[in-house]
Amino acid sequence: MTAIRPLVAGNWKMNGLGASLAEIASLLDRLAQNGLPPTDIMVCPPATLLTKAKLMLEGGPVTLGAQDCHPLASGAHTGDLSAEMLADAGAKAIIVGHSERRTDHGETDAMVNAKTQAAHRAGLSAIICVGETEQERRNGATLEVVQGQLAGSVPRDARAANTVIAYEPVWAIGSGLTPTQDDVAEVHAVIRAELTRLIGEEGTGVRILYGGSVKPGNARELLQIANVNGALVGGASLKAEDFYTILCAY
Ligand code: PEP
Repeated sequence: MTAIRPLVAGNWKMNGLGASLAEIASLLDRLAQNGLPPTDIMVCPPATLLTKAKLMLEGGPVTLGAQDCHPLASGAHTGDLSAEMLADAGAKAIIVGHSERRTDHGETDAMVNAKTQAAHRAGLSAIICVGETEQERRNGATLEVVQGQLAGSVPRDARAANTVIAYEPVWAIGSGLTPTQDDVAEVHAVIRAELTRLIGEEGTGVRILYGGSVKPGNARELLQIANVNGALVGGASLKAEDFYTILCAY
């Protein structure tokens, strides 16, 4: 099997005004000065910054992602953005099913599946987030929860080239807590097996990112775990220095 090229993606969430684009400029400077790590690199700023970020990133080593989309291509859905609009603004990928959207907006696996299909329809990759809550982990239900989310969220025609899974334990997001290396390895192995069951051979090439309090100080230990093909980074992606240090774990 050919090696999977990792991906490190920064999820800015609802953070960032125009001035924050200086962090993207600083990231590009660091990469230009020190050389490129052997990983794909993506930043996912809020939709308001996509067009400006696109101009900065064009032709460079960092790709642009968005954070959510509506399942439909257009229509009477005030305030929503379609995958086609995000592609038009410069996004190459869309994060779907982040736990904050599942919690804040009641997104179900079926909705995440529809959004994933929308991203694919627009020619974009989908980064599908899954992960258990603290209570579910305490109940010993982690693997079952993650398998269920995958079964509901991953379209059966998903391909390694257009689909990424991010395993993000809800209790690890923004908390400074991380699972043990053994726990991450166990969940990622189950995700790999479930992907293969759902989409066959393609599942062996899908990138499985770890997300949840990835920081400069723990990136190396998390990113070298089996079946961890990169990271989805929240808070630590807002500062170029921290995000760049995480990239240097490769
Ligand atoms: C995220 O929300 O995708 C995330 C991983 O956040 P953080 O790195 O801040 O825990």
